[in-house]
Amino acid sequence: MSKRQPIYVTQPELPPLEEFTPYLEQIWSNRLLTNGGPFHQQLEQELCRHLGVEYISLFANGTLALLTALQALRITGEVITTPYSFVATSHSLLWNGITPVFVDIDPVNLNLDPAKIESAITPRTTAIMPVHCYGEPCDTRAIQAIADNYNLKVIYDAAHAFGVEQDGASILNCGDLSVLSFHATKVFNTFEGGAIVSPDARTKQRIDRLKNFGFVDETTVVAAGINGKMSEINAAFGLLQLKGVEAAMVARRKVACRYTEAFEGLAGITCVRPAGRGPANHSYFPILVGPGYPLGRDALHALLKEHDIVARRYFYPLISSFPMYRGMLSAAAENLPVASRAADQVLCLPIYPGLAEDDQQRIIDLILDPQVSPAGAR
Ligand SMILES: *Cc1c(COP(=O)(O)O)cnc(C)c1O
Repeated sequence: MSKRQPIYVTQPELPPLEEFTPYLEQIWSNRLLTNGGPFHQQLEQELCRHLGVEYISLFANGTLALLTALQALRITGEVITTPYSFVATSHSLLWNGITPVFVDIDPVNLNLDPAKIESAITPRTTAIMPVHCYGEPCDTRAIQAIADNYNLKVIYDAAHAFGVEQDGASILNCGDLSVLSFHATKVFNTFEGGAIVSPDARTKQRIDRLKNFGFVDETTVVAAGINGKMSEINAAFGLLQLKGVEAAMVARRKVACRYTEAFEGLAGITCVRPAGRGPANHSYFPILVGPGYPLGRDALHALLKEHDIVARRYFYPLISSFPMYRGMLSAAAENLPVASRAADQVLCLPIYPGLAEDDQQRIIDLILDPQVSPAGAR
């Protein structure tokens, strides 16, 4: 058996180490390690320019940003959200003493289904927290219409949506706030990191205070804030990483195109985010393994693993099936048939700029012919 490096679902882009040295030298010489230092300020400015947004607040990670976004808008009671996401989406609600109300997803784009939101609204509902899942924009217009009608806030979990535009504008400008994650597995990373996009300077100021214990100045504290600050090392890495992010998108797109073409017409396999359709950033390449395919999803996942290919079942299990949620009325599987089916069929394939073409071809060959592939020779 050959001793190959495993191929993971993603692999972070790392610029040459020597390109990071000057940043470190600057930190060592000015001794500003955190608390909104020069790299932090510069990264906020450059991200605004790059993303096409006006106000952004950096965070130590995306989860702290979600927690703070809910605090900033003083969200309470119940919030309508999707069960088909990373668990941090709902956890941020629980940590704020808010009850998540799960609503089913659209069968095609796998985002919160606007047609099902209205019937989940109660007198306790104060907000909607949708996710631009795999970077595909939600139906933001329909969601906003409902929010306006019922006087609800909208906070987008945009952890997957770095750089995604719709009609020539950033989708991060939709809703009341959008939250990004810069975790190592995301399209743009600062090792750990996150951000909130705000519509106006006052909201940004409130968020900036909340992420710094509620301090206004040396002696004034106006809110029970938290420590959500991004350090200078992370901000510096972000500045370096930002230089290569366009090229990384192009490389991701090529990978997505090869998968899309290879699986065209393959019985039982659906590409959820095919290349060339929609404003995607190709942050993930999910496929649905349906009944027409010779293997079930878990068997395909296992087969790939035997070949050192580590695909991931994002998002299985559904958030609503974890113990702290499953007792809730809205968590019942009967309430979430589309999300339940997607969770049982989805498999996210490796996609990242450094994925070699022959490695990708091995993945494709295994999926095209799961019986006669080198699996037989192992
Ligand atoms: C990654 C992710 C988060 C959490 O971000 P962290 O930076 O890891 O805290 C939240 N929501 C979604 C949908 C994510 O994928």
